[in-house]
Amino acid sequence: MAESVELPSRLGILPFRNKVLLPGAIIRIRCTSPSSVKLVEQELWQREEKGLIGILPVRDSAETMAVGPMLYPGAGADLGERSSKHQVGTSDSHKLDGKNQQEVIHWHTRGVAARALHLSRGVEKPSGRVTYIVVLEGLCRFSVQELSTRGTYYTARIAPLDMTKAEMELVEQDPEFMTLSRHFKTTAMELISVLEQKQKTGGRTKVLLETVPVHKLADIFVASFEISFEEQLSMLDSVDVKVRLSKATELVDRHLQSIRVAEKITQKVEGQLSKSQKEFLLRQQMRAIKEELGDNDDDEDDVAVLERKMQNAGMPPNIWKTAQRELRRLKKMQPQQPGYNSSRVYLELLADLPWQTASEESELDLKAAKERLDHDHYGLVKVKQRIIEYLAVRKLKPDARGPILCFVGPPGVGKTSLASSIAAALGRKFVRISLGGVKDEADIRGHRRTYIGSMPGRLIDGLKRVAVCNPVMLLDEIDKTGSDVRGDPASALLEVLDPEQNKTFNDHYLNVPYDLSKVIFVATANRMQPIPPPLLDRMEVIELPGYTPEEKLRIATRHLIPRVLDQHGLSSDFLHIPEAMVKLVIQSYTREAGVRNLERNLAALARAAAVRVAEQEHDMPLGKEVHQLASPLLESRVADGAEVEMEVIPLDVNNHEISNTFRVPSPFIVDEAMLEKVLGPPRYDDRETAERVATPGISVGLVWTAFGGDVQFVEATAMVGKGDLHLTGQLGDVIKESAQIALTWVRVRATELKLAAAEESNLLEGRDVHIHFPAGAVPKDGPSAGVTLVTALVSLFSQRRARADTAMTGEMTLRGLVLPVGGIKDKVLAAHRYGIKRVILPERNLKDLVEVPAAVLAGLEILPAKRMEDVLEHAFEGGCPWRQHSKL
Ligand code: ADP
Repeated sequence: MAESVELPSRLGILPFRNKVLLPGAIIRIRCTSPSSVKLVEQELWQREEKGLIGILPVRDSAETMAVGPMLYPGAGADLGERSSKHQVGTSDSHKLDGKNQQEVIHWHTRGVAARALHLSRGVEKPSGRVTYIVVLEGLCRFSVQELSTRGTYYTARIAPLDMTKAEMELVEQDPEFMTLSRHFKTTAMELISVLEQKQKTGGRTKVLLETVPVHKLADIFVASFEISFEEQLSMLDSVDVKVRLSKATELVDRHLQSIRVAEKITQKVEGQLSKSQKEFLLRQQMRAIKEELGDNDDDEDDVAVLERKMQNAGMPPNIWKTAQRELRRLKKMQPQQPGYNSSRVYLELLADLPWQTASEESELDLKAAKERLDHDHYGLVKVKQRIIEYLAVRKLKPDARGPILCFVGPPGVGKTSLASSIAAALGRKFVRISLGGVKDEADIRGHRRTYIGSMPGRLIDGLKRVAVCNPVMLLDEIDKTGSDVRGDPASALLEVLDPEQNKTFNDHYLNVPYDLSKVIFVATANRMQPIPPPLLDRMEVIELPGYTPEEKLRIATRHLIPRVLDQHGLSSDFLHIPEAMVKLVIQSYTREAGVRNLERNLAALARAAAVRVAEQEHDMPLGKEVHQLASPLLESRVADGAEVEMEVIPLDVNNHEISNTFRVPSPFIVDEAMLEKVLGPPRYDDRETAERVATPGISVGLVWTAFGGDVQFVEATAMVGKGDLHLTGQLGDVIKESAQIALTWVRVRATELKLAAAEESNLLEGRDVHIHFPAGAVPKDGPSAGVTLVTALVSLFSQRRARADTAMTGEMTLRGLVLPVGGIKDKVLAAHRYGIKRVILPERNLKDLVEVPAAVLAGLEILPAKRMEDVLEHAFEGGCPWRQHSKL
C-alpha cells in the first residue's frame, strides 16, 4: 500500500484523456503514441531506481465544462520538437496556443503522481514500433505550477498537495473528521458485506479497513466504482480530507443503494419467472388430467373448433393465407398473453363473415313482387312503379350495376318498410345500418387492430349479423352523417356505393378486402340537401311526400290497425276502431307527414283494449273449451274463478289463438271518451290558427322541415323605441335578411298602404319593431318567409287582422316581387293538415301543384301571387281596401 512519498519538484506528465487516476488505484495501460512511449522510456524504463510520473487528466474540448481548474496548452499528447514554457498563473485556467489549433486540450491543474508496479516492453513486428504495457499505482496528489515540453512529452513543475504527517495527526484529532471517518467506515463496511455476500469472497477487504488510513481508503474505494469523469475530477480536487471523506461516503452509499435496487429487481424478475413457469407446469398437468378424464373443452379445443370454422368459411385463397398466419400466431400464444384475445376475436370474425354464403335468389316473379308491395303499402303508386322497374332490370340482368335507390321523405312515410319489401320480393335477407349521427369514418371503415377496443365498421358488422353476402342493406338516414376531425364518413360511403371500388372494400379492422358487390344497397334520408353531392350522384332519389289525411285513414284501416291488433294478440272481435275515431286521431292527436305517431296512438288504444279484455274475463261465464286454455299469464286468473283442470300450452303458441279462446260477447268499440281516456285531451284542433291569429300583427306561413311541411306563425309587435328591429326565434342569416327586406318594403310603401299619414312621416318614428317566430327552440332559416313577414308587419301597422284561414309562402325581393320557393307539395299538405282553407303561393310555383294529391287540392283554395300586393290582397278579409287608393 502506498506509503508517504517524497515527490521530486518536476515530473514527466502522462495525460489521461477524460479519465482520472486516484491515489491508491492501480491501472494497467498500454502506451503506443510516440510521446507516451518516450515518456515511459525516459522516466521509468531507463531509470535505475524506481521512477515516478505524473498523471494529469485532460478534457476533450467538446467536453469542456466548468468543473475544477483547468490548463489549456496548445498541443495534445502528440507534441512537436519544441520547448516552450507555460506559466500557470493565479487564475485557475489558461488557454495556451499550440501548434495544432484545432485540437485544444484542457489540462487539469491537479494530478496524481504514480509509480510503475510493472513494466513490459514490446516491439511490433514488421514496423519495429516500440510499445509499453505499464501497471501504474497512484500515489499522491500534486498541483501543477508550470507545464513545459521536454522533447516529445510534457513535464511539469509541481507541488505536493497531501498533508504532512504532523498535519494529518492534527486533523485526526478533529471531532468532525472523526465523525466523518466513522460514518465512512460504516458505509464502507456495509458495502463490503453486501459485496462479500454476493461474491462469497473472504474477509480480505475488511482487513484494509483496519490497516489503511481512512483518507486513503476514501480514494481507494471511490477508484473501484464506475463513476463519471466529473465525479472523478471532483474527488481528485478534494484535497481537504474532510471534504474527501464526505464525498467518498456519498459515493459509496450511492453505490450501495444501486446494488440493493439491482438486487431487488433481480429477485422480482426471478420470482415472476418462476411463477409463470409454475403456472405453465400446472397448466400442463391440468391438461394431462383433463385428457385422462376425456374432458376436452379447453382452449386448445376451442382453437381447433375455430380452425374448423375457418376452413368452412369459404374464404378466398389470399384471405385464407392471412387467416392461417394469424392462426399460427394464436396457437403459439398462451391464453393469458396480451393480444391472444384480440387475435382470437379477429379470427372469429373472419370465420363468421359470409365470404360465399348467399341467400338463394329465387326466380324473380314481378307479379308477386307487385302484390307484395301492394299488400304492405297503401298508395305510393309512383314509388312502387319505380321499384318494380328496378326489380325488372335486375331480373333481366342480375349483375347489372343498377343505381342505388334512395328514398327521401319525412319520418314515418314508409321508407324503411319499402326497403324491406324489396328484400322480401327478391327473397333476400334484410339488414339495416343506421347512419344517423355517424361522424367518425371508423364507424364505416372500422378501427385498425392496433387500437385498444378496435372493432370492424358497421357494414362488416351488419354482414356478420345477417350472415349472407348478398343481403339488401339499408343505409338508413344517410343525410345525417357529418364530418369532423375524425374523418369523413361520406367519403367512405362513396367507396361502398361505387361498384368499381366496392369489390375490394377495405375495412381497417378486417385488413383484408371484402367483396361488397353482391350487396344491394338502398338508402333513406329525410332531406336531400345535406347529402354530399358526390354521394347523391351515385343514387337515384325517390321522394316520398307526406300523406293526406284521407290516405292516412286508408293506411290506418287497411294496414296499421290489423297489424297493431295482431301485435297485441287481439283481433277485430275484440276491438273495433270506427273510421270516425281514426279520423279524430289523425286530426286531433297527430300532425305529422308520415304515420308513425298514428301507429303509436293506435297501439296505445290496442294496449288499453288488451287490458280490458283481460279484466273482463273475470265476469265471463267459462265455456267448456276454456279448461283447455292455458296461457301462463292467465292461469292464475282462471284458477281463481273456477275449479278446472289445467293444461299448460307451450309458450310458443300464438297469442292470437289464446285470445281467441275467450268468448267475447261483443268487441270494444272505441269512442271519443275512450280516446280521451287513453290518449289524453286532443292535442290539435282547427281552431288553433284562428285563436293564434286573433290579434293584428300575426300571419300564417308555410315552411319546410326535415319532418315534412309545417305551419309557421309570424308575430310582430311594436313598442316605444328608437326605430330598431328586434328578431327572435333562433333565426338564421337568410331569414334575418328577409325580415329587414320586409320592413324596408313596408316602410317605403307606408303612405301608399295608408299605414302612415303623410309622405314624409316615418313609420318607425319613436317605436321599435319586434318580430318573433314561435317554437323558439327550433332553429329556422330560409327565404320563404318573406311574404309572411310583410303580411305580419302590414297587419301590425294597419291594426287589421290577417285571415286565419289563409297561409302563405314565398320569397320577396326588395322591389316587392314574389319569387318561387321549394317544398311546395309538403307545404300544401301541411296547410291541409292544419285545416287551412286558402294558400297563397308564388305564381311560378303553381306548376308544382301537380304533385299534390287531387283530394287535397279539392279542399283548398290556391291563390297565386306575382307581387307582394297580390299577397296582401289575398291575406286580408275583403281584400286590401286601402290598395284602391294607392298607385300599386
Ligand atoms: P320511415 O322509414 O320513412 O321513417 P317506416 O318505414 O318506419 O318509416 O314506417 C313507419 C310505419 O308506417 C311502418 O310500420 C310502416 O309499415 C307504416 N307505413 C308507412 N307508410 C305506409 C303505407 N303507405 N302503407 C302502409 N303502411 C305504411
